[in-house]
Amino acid sequence: MNDCRFFVPGPTWVRPEILEEMTRPMIGHRSAEFKDLFRKIIADLKPLFVTTQDTFVATCSGTGLMEASLANCATRRVLITTCGAFSDRWAAIAESLGLEVDRLETPWGTAVDPDALADHLASRRVHYDAVTLTHNETSTGVTNDVASLARVIREGSSDTLILVDAVSSLAGIPVLFDEWGLDVCFASVQKGIALPPGITVVAVSQQALARAAKTPYRGTYFDFLQFKKHADTDGVPTTPSIPHFYALAAQLDAILRRETLNARFERHEAMRDLTILKTSTYAKLASDPKHASATVTALAPVKDPELIRSEMKKRGFTLGSGYGDWKASTFRIGHMGDIPLASLETMLDVLTEVART
Ligand code: PLP
Repeated sequence: MNDCRFFVPGPTWVRPEILEEMTRPMIGHRSAEFKDLFRKIIADLKPLFVTTQDTFVATCSGTGLMEASLANCATRRVLITTCGAFSDRWAAIAESLGLEVDRLETPWGTAVDPDALADHLASRRVHYDAVTLTHNETSTGVTNDVASLARVIREGSSDTLILVDAVSSLAGIPVLFDEWGLDVCFASVQKGIALPPGITVVAVSQQALARAAKTPYRGTYFDFLQFKKHADTDGVPTTPSIPHFYALAAQLDAILRRETLNARFERHEAMRDLTILKTSTYAKLASDPKHASATVTALAPVKDPELIRSEMKKRGFTLGSGYGDWKASTFRIGHMGDIPLASLETMLDVLTEVART
């Protein structure tokens, strides 16, 4: 039965029939069968990112693509916009690659302000190879307005690339890669796409590929030009996680044709609204309600968050802990992927009993 009791903000609950897909017999990754599977996946990634540009699948978690984006697209200076733990991770990676890093810092729980970004770009007056954005900050449950932020970056400079982490938004919150003018946008599959962790999907613009061609030391495993070269003949550069490819093909089919994207986005919004409504008597929304995420909610309860989580665990429900700076004061409810609204409602009713008493 499709009843979910697992509400961590990634990895998220996976439907049993999707898990089953991962037990199919192995095929060679240079075989005709694999090429068919690959073609199907790549075709279905285009409507997911709403793009006509290149899409790839990498066998790694999302952090791999954070590193790949920077390694392929930047050689000198980058601007990292931060508003929580995951947006901050970009800065650590950029520094580890030897890039000059500027930060536009926004307090935890709030969204990056497009006007502040415009002011920063106007006053700092340096050229950035790239600006990083985090569509949905999973540590705080905030969704950034990537459309407006990207517009500001484009107005400031036409050759500053826009690198977007959509790890906890893609397939739960609309991502419009072409319309927003993004250059790299990626998501690991254990969140909105609702697969077990292990692969990451990515869209890459022509401009980003052109930049990669001019970037001398891109590394090997994450070289976008190798992704492109192999994708042009329906393949991947190195041995992929083939079980994940089976499951991804089935899941993309279900998302696009069984549920449909719009219905999926509406279900996520309904899950967010229900979560906020049903927790309001015993917990404060930890983040700015105007930017409340449709995939994850961080709550600051009256009672000790860890006590609440352990009481819920005893009742068979797993919730997410607070993250980073907010570990002690909050807990998080992941409401992403394939979670049925009815399962969330059942959990929230039990949570009300636990958190109020
Ligand atoms: N970015 C965001 C917004 C995340 O939520 C996470 C993980 O939770 C990551 C990046 C890192 O992704 P991964 O754990 O797939 O490497």
